[in-house]
Amino acid sequence: MIKLPFRVSLLLPFFSSVLIAASASAQTIYVRAGKLVDPTAGTVRSDQILRIEDSRIAAVGPYAPPPKGSIVTDWSAYTVLPGLIDMHTHLVDVEQSSNVAGPLLHSAAEIALLGAKHAQKTLNAGFTSVRDVGTFRAFGDVAVRDAIEAGWIEGPRMMVAGAYLTVPGGGGEVTGLAPDVTVPSDMRVGVVSGPAQMTVKARYLFQQRVNFLKLIATGAVLAAGTEPGAPELTEDEVRAAVDEARRNNSYATAHAHGAEGIKIALRAGVRSIEHASLIDDEGIALAKAKGAWLVMDIYNGDYINEIGARDHWPEEILRKNRDTTDLQREGFTKAVKAGVKIAYGTDAGVYPHGDNGKQFAYMVRYGMTPMQAIQSATTVAADLMQRSGDIGSVTPGQFGDLIAVKGDPLKDITVLERVSHVMKGGVVVR
Ligand SMILES: [Zn+2]
Repeated sequence: MIKLPFRVSLLLPFFSSVLIAASASAQTIYVRAGKLVDPTAGTVRSDQILRIEDSRIAAVGPYAPPPKGSIVTDWSAYTVLPGLIDMHTHLVDVEQSSNVAGPLLHSAAEIALLGAKHAQKTLNAGFTSVRDVGTFRAFGDVAVRDAIEAGWIEGPRMMVAGAYLTVPGGGGEVTGLAPDVTVPSDMRVGVVSGPAQMTVKARYLFQQRVNFLKLIATGAVLAAGTEPGAPELTEDEVRAAVDEARRNNSYATAHAHGAEGIKIALRAGVRSIEHASLIDDEGIALAKAKGAWLVMDIYNGDYINEIGARDHWPEEILRKNRDTTDLQREGFTKAVKAGVKIAYGTDAGVYPHGDNGKQFAYMVRYGMTPMQAIQSATTVAADLMQRSGDIGSVTPGQFGDLIAVKGDPLKDITVLERVSHVMKGGVVVR
């Protein structure tokens, strides 16, 4: 009970845009849609009109002329969808390179400004909400989220983790440096050993107004000296984080490549698994039984492979990437068949921000229908994000977050790589 004011402040950054956007669009506006994709119903309807009042959708139906003098955004030549959601971005960091010291080359202020640039690119690509799953400089993501909500800069609605919760030297650390190099303390905020320390650190992150916890449960492809297949956090450590998240009305998600680490995290109660590269049949069954989501970044392996070979990235990283890419895609196909919930997440930051839509084609190639792929980036993602009432659909009550594309994404999913127009909270931003 004593936590109530804290919870309110935790949720405020996400919901406060009602007030911000309202000042920009206090009037009623209409959007005419040539075709409207409704991922909740799984249908596409022709010639629709949406009424948006004070940043939220108030009504949707077959086109009828709005009252004279109304403000109408005419997207009758386009297919309109809800704003897309990427559940796995790293907006507030340097983009991936082969330099292990890359994160150390920029100040916290520079990183936050970079985050602003990446946020704009992401929004322009049609992603009106993201879950940003970690930054090396702690809490830069909190600052960027709040700056967007305050209207200082343009970007997607962000849910942020604040820092990585990781074991010393683990997949969430800046590794590969000389042993006598001291990493700045703001890059080690989430380094933990043991469940008691996990509780302390998780509590501290929520105090700093993060939206959820990001655990590094196994080694990582891109962290030198760690192995993706190897478990890092113990089940007790993961459980301590899950419990603290629950006490804050939130949840934990776990980066986990290896089959054993995936199962440890699922048994301990995480809401979602990131990557799930080497998931086995038992892990798929466990995810299904637990009602957990998988967030599988099945596009970026090809990008790493191409750029890594061109720019001579270390063989260790390229090997780990090769080892995980094909198996992850096989696991994805199996998980789709098994009916496990899969939310759209790309690991943007590993590849250039703004290319987020490139993963749709992979998801269709590896077993989803185009509508399932769209749902993974709308309704399914919103549900995982605990924001179904606000985003991910075109039903009344939702934010007026919409995109317009040329062509039919159900026939050619790649049209989602080329978004023509973007509306956020009833305001056309592109
Ligand atoms: Zn990531």
